[in-house]
Order: sequence, then structure tokens, then C-alpha cells
Amino acid sequence: MKQQHGVQTAEMRPEHALQSPVVALNPSQRALLMGSSLLDGVPLAVVQKWLTHAPVRSLARGEALITLGSAHETLFLLLSGELSVWLHADASSLAAGETDAALPAVLTHKEVARILPGESVGEQSLIDRQMPNAWAIAEQESQVLAVPADMVWESMHEEPKIALNLLRVLSARVRKANAGLSEAMLHQQRLAQDAETDALTGLPNRRWMDRTYRRTLRRQQSSACSASLLMIDIDHFKNVNDEHGHPVGDLVLCHAARCIEIALRPGDLCARYGGEEFCVLLPEVDAVTANRIAQRICATVFKTPFRLDTGDSLAMSVSVGVASWNQQSPLETLLEAADAALYQAKRQGRNRVVAALD
Ligand code: GH3
Ligand code: MG
Ligand code: MG
Repeated sequence: MKQQHGVQTAEMRPEHALQSPVVALNPSQRALLMGSSLLDGVPLAVVQKWLTHAPVRSLARGEALITLGSAHETLFLLLSGELSVWLHADASSLAAGETDAALPAVLTHKEVARILPGESVGEQSLIDRQMPNAWAIAEQESQVLAVPADMVWESMHEEPKIALNLLRVLSARVRKANAGLSEAMLHQQRLAQDAETDALTGLPNRRWMDRTYRRTLRRQQSSACSASLLMIDIDHFKNVNDEHGHPVGDLVLCHAARCIEIALRPGDLCARYGGEEFCVLLPEVDAVTANRIAQRICATVFKTPFRLDTGDSLAMSVSVGVASWNQQSPLETLLEAADAALYQAKRQGRNRVVAALD
């Protein structure tokens, strides 16, 4: 970069600066800059150089001041108007030198900040000499003081307060970015949780069950503990829908879910398997205890009828198939065994527990 102080050569000046004549700032713009975070406490003599030699660039509404991936060697101080800063959802996919030339599209870009008069943009690329990783777009007609990087560095050597101010500005940016990151992580966590939760009963769904059960069984394998699985199906549930309507059927499903949960221990893993079927993994539980827990579920559902709006009680029952884990069987085998046992429970008259044969 060749530059005699205060004199920009065509070689170093960004293209847009060539198009912008140096315009004298009015007193209010000067006052704005002197009070800005970046120039706060900096002697007037140092600021004067910027005001005298740095060009002012005018931006039309919607015009891009900084484009993702295209180099600039300038610090921009906003004199009037407003800028928005946008991140690209997948900026890393843009190879070095490749620019994201299109204007921000709703799905791939996210607005992360607004820049108001007196604030700056472009500090990060100035410090690390990397390509910008964000857009800066004029939200309305705006004016910026475009201070070339060399001028900033030179002023920093003369007046360390500028460096200190710059650190403060960058630190505030990092803090804000971290807050945004935390928020995004929380949002992500909620989405993941929603994807694994059954919206009707609030129980984990089959997707969660598949992931969690496999992990639990793997862990049990190494500790050589037994585990048991229950398949639970509401008896004659179709009649509930047919006689009382689907919305009541939904409430009955929730009621059954609560009854099952009440009968379980805190560490037992219950999920809605689908329709009117539930599945429970009982870690570190052998066949005898599993059978007892299944009986408890059956009894709890039977003695806790659903109360209709009319005040009448709706008797309910479930059938349960129990399978116990022989340390080798994969989840599918365990599910098949429990399902076969459940089928037997239905055949034998419902409202009962049947254990799978080893
Ligand atoms: P069985 O004792 O043999 O299990 O008889 P059943 O009537 O319970 O079994 P069937 O498989 O014939 O019927 C299950 C019914 O569950 C049919 C389906 O419409 C209903 N169902 C499945 N999911 C939901 C749901 O989310 N809400 C409601 N209200 N009904 C559901
Ligand atoms: Mg069923
Ligand atoms: Mg059923």
C-alpha cells in the first residue's frame, strides 16, 4: 500500500472512494465524530487529519457499503443515515475471493445490527486484514467518512487512545455477537426438543425413544445389567373416538399417558410409540420386576377412569407386553418380543400383562 500521509494514490483507494469527492463536513457532523466511541477523547489535531483528507461517500438507500467477501481497506464512520449489518447463513461456503454479489435474501441472510450516526463499520477487516464476513447496507440515504486503513494505523501510532477506543468498540461487538450466539443456541435447543416431543401428550416421541433407548442399552451392555421393555396399548380405543369424538379421544390419550407416568420410577423412560401405544424402557430392571411394574401400570389405568364433561366416567384399560434384555439383543429384537407379548395379552382378553418367552 503506497500512501503519503493524507494523499491517497489511485492504487490504494477503494473503487468507491475514487467516485467520491472530498466534501467538507458541516459543524454538526464534526461534533458527531468528536463524540463518537471511536474518537472519544482523541485530540482534535489527530481527528482533523481524517476530516481533512478522508473522503465522504454518499450512499443511496439499499446500496451496499461493505460486501461479503470483497476486500476493503477502509474504516467507515457513519455521518448521517443508517446502515444495517447482515450475516450470511453459510459465509464459509464462499471461497476466498468469491463475492456474495446478490442483495440479501430473506432465507440466507440475517440482520444482526443497525449502525447509527457516530458509529463505525469495517474495523474488523482493518485489524485482521481478512475479507469482511458481513454486509453493510444503507437503510436510507447515508453518508460515511471513508478513512483509509493506512491513515487509521498512522493515527493510532500518534494517538494510542484511538487504539484503546477501537478495542472497546470491538469488545462491544464481540459481547453482542456472543449474546446472539447464546440466543441462537437456546433456539436450536428448543427446536431439537420440539422435534423429539409428542405435541399431544408432551411425552418424548419415537424419534427420542430410538436415540435414547439405543444409548441406554449400549451403556447397560458395558455394565452387564439387565433391562426390560414394555409395550402398552390402550384397549378398544377406537370405540372412544367413535362414541365420544376425536377431541375426547385426544384427552383420553393424555390421561393414559399421565397414568403410565404415575406408575413409573423417575429413571424409567416412557415415550409415545405412536397412535394409542406407549413404550417404556426400564433400565436395570429384570423380568420379575418389569412384570410387577407392568401390573402396576395396568392397575393404575384401570382404577383411574377418565372423567367426561358430563360428569360420567369412562372406564379404560391397557394391555402390556413385557420383554427383558438378554445383553445381546438389539433394540429391534426387544421391541418385537414386547410386541408379540402385547399381541398375546390382547388375544387373552385385554387389560392384562403378558411376558415374552426367552
Ligand atoms: P385394541 O384393543 O385391539 O387395541 O383396539 P383399538 O380400538 O384400541 O385399536 P385400533 O388399532 O383398532 O384403533 C386405534 C385407534 O386409535 C384408531 C385411531 O384412529 C386412534 N388414534 C390413533 N392416534 C390417535 C390420536 O392421536 N388421537 C385420537 N383421538 N385417536 C387416535
Ligand atoms: Mg394399537
Ligand atoms: Mg388399542
